[in-house]
Amino acid sequence: MALEANFCRVQLDRPGPGGVDQLLCVRRTRLGKTGQQICVGDRVEVEGIDWPEARAAIAAVAPRSSLLERPAVANCSRVVVVAALAQPELDPLQLTRFLLTAERTGVAVELVLTKADLLSASEQEQWRERLTAWGYVPQLVSSQSGLGLAALRARLAQPGVSVLCGPSGVGKSSLINALLPQLRLRVSAVSGRLQRGRHTTRHVELFPVEPGALLADSPGFNRPSLPAEPAELGSLFPEIRQRLESSACQFKNCLHQGDPGCAVGSDWDRHGLYLNCLESVQQQVARQPRPRSGGLKQRGGKQEPLLDQRLRQSSRRRLRQEEPDEEG
Ligand code: GDP
Ligand code: ZN
Repeated sequence: MALEANFCRVQLDRPGPGGVDQLLCVRRTRLGKTGQQICVGDRVEVEGIDWPEARAAIAAVAPRSSLLERPAVANCSRVVVVAALAQPELDPLQLTRFLLTAERTGVAVELVLTKADLLSASEQEQWRERLTAWGYVPQLVSSQSGLGLAALRARLAQPGVSVLCGPSGVGKSSLINALLPQLRLRVSAVSGRLQRGRHTTRHVELFPVEPGALLADSPGFNRPSLPAEPAELGSLFPEIRQRLESSACQFKNCLHQGDPGCAVGSDWDRHGLYLNCLESVQQQVARQPRPRSGGLKQRGGKQEPLLDQRLRQSSRRRLRQEEPDEEG
């Protein structure tokens, strides 16, 4: 659930004697020798349980289905992009960049639009239609009025780890508190520890929505990033994926810039935003000419989706600035 100094906080599948459902665990040294890192989200085996003290040791880590980096989250099954419908006004380019960041991880992408209470029903409907045309099923919610919260909670209660991703100010903390009211009690009981944690990029903690369904929030996911290669960009737009499924583009290595004969064409809402992002990727490539392997890292014969290099670098910069906060 969380890494705390030299300990890992482990949530048990079933509570043990005395209703103990979490254990503070040390890592066995042999885990260290094999170089196996433990991340938030990992499934582990524990041994040597001291029930009265709620202590144990981690004996083994199960293979991962995916790994996000900076901050590391193992076994992430969906990335939830969070954007506000108002205050601040929804910016289609910024939202697109967060959606691309989420798409690059290779896991399922969901879209949540907050602060629906600030828009009229017809304005809400316009956004719903527009984003549906982008290829997403937007979930409109309001932490203030409670609109859409039960439906969102039901989606997040499905097994797996969900990661929230979006700029600060869109209402992610309000959403977590509204979805998990029992959490607020726990957080305030331990002297604002969530507040402190939220200021540190490295910090990531999982919150249980249901047994086996966990929600992660971290400032590390507050910055969007672009793919390293122009050719990678198209596959991150559901509209382009759809069009290429029904008819392959006749041009080899086509960047789908609207040339006559390109199967993707230019008659879709985000075509201009696609060109804008393509230009940014090309500028990024021109600035940092170095070979890259794309958004997936090969590990143990298995592909693990990653957040990209640029996000990791910006996180490191932020980390340095925030170190005093992390210690204090
Ligand atoms: P975060 O930075 O993404 O965690 O955003 P916060 O949860 O801190 O919220 C940012 C601001 O938006 C705060 O002033 C909240 O009161 C406000 N806010 C959050 N959710 C809602 C909502 O559903 N409706 C309205 N009107 N304001 C909201
Ligand atoms: Zn094309």
